[in-house]
Amino acid sequence: MSCGPLEGPGRASAGLRVYFLDVGQGDACLMRTPGNRWFLYDIGNKSEYLIAFLKSVRADTLDAAFISHPDLDHFGAFPALLREITIKKVYLPPATNPSPAWLEVLAVLDAYRGVKDTLFAGDTLILDEGVRVRTLWPFPHSGLAGNDVSTVLRVEYRTRRLLLTGDIEEEAERGILASGVRPQGDILKVAHHGSRTSNGLPFLAAVAPRWAVISCDSAVYGHPHAEAVADLALILGDSTRILRTDREGTVGFEMDERGIRRIEP
Ligand SMILES: [Zn+2]
Repeated sequence: MSCGPLEGPGRASAGLRVYFLDVGQGDACLMRTPGNRWFLYDIGNKSEYLIAFLKSVRADTLDAAFISHPDLDHFGAFPALLREITIKKVYLPPATNPSPAWLEVLAVLDAYRGVKDTLFAGDTLILDEGVRVRTLWPFPHSGLAGNDVSTVLRVEYRTRRLLLTGDIEEEAERGILASGVRPQGDILKVAHHGSRTSNGLPFLAAVAPRWAVISCDSAVYGHPHAEAVADLALILGDSTRILRTDREGTVGFEMDERGIRRIEP
């Protein structure tokens, strides 16, 4: 595993690129496959920044957008995004929300011409040659609600793994561990913006990340919580591998068989 110098966006590449976008309090993780296909896991709630970033990297079309769960900080920019960018497929969470903003998403999707689907644990997708997604959570009819039904995806490229956790909390973490699938991830999108109600030590130990990214704005809910950051540092053994979007801005990585490198967004 290497951590080389920062490398610019113009560099020719055969790796999987991942950008944790600086959308304040919220989540938006953009991925580009080696075959130049774009995917977005969570949309955030800052449409101007999101759309400007997508245009800056010439992501004119998303092969798919995944909404982990129906909280505004994960989907608020969706209607604006759909007006600006072609999205071939939308993966919706198996949960709903009576908020006017979520009802607007559902209304927008009524006129949407692409494909809609929902993922459950055990479902796998091939995003591109060599890039596979495993769905780790939730199971159908889990009886859970809110953050704990966030869609959890592990994106795998060759031997590298990226774990995307939405806002799951301890009950979902226990459920994933009990499912028998080890949720190991080289890069962890830290759950629920680094909340103390997520990121339990047993789960972090099973993930065993080399890098942890916290998408947050500490001025909003005080995320990340000090206890969660301390537990991450304990597992990582190196607190410089905990990256926060409120301090770093957008955080980029490239993953391939040579290792995982940070890249300039
Ligand atoms: Zn959230």
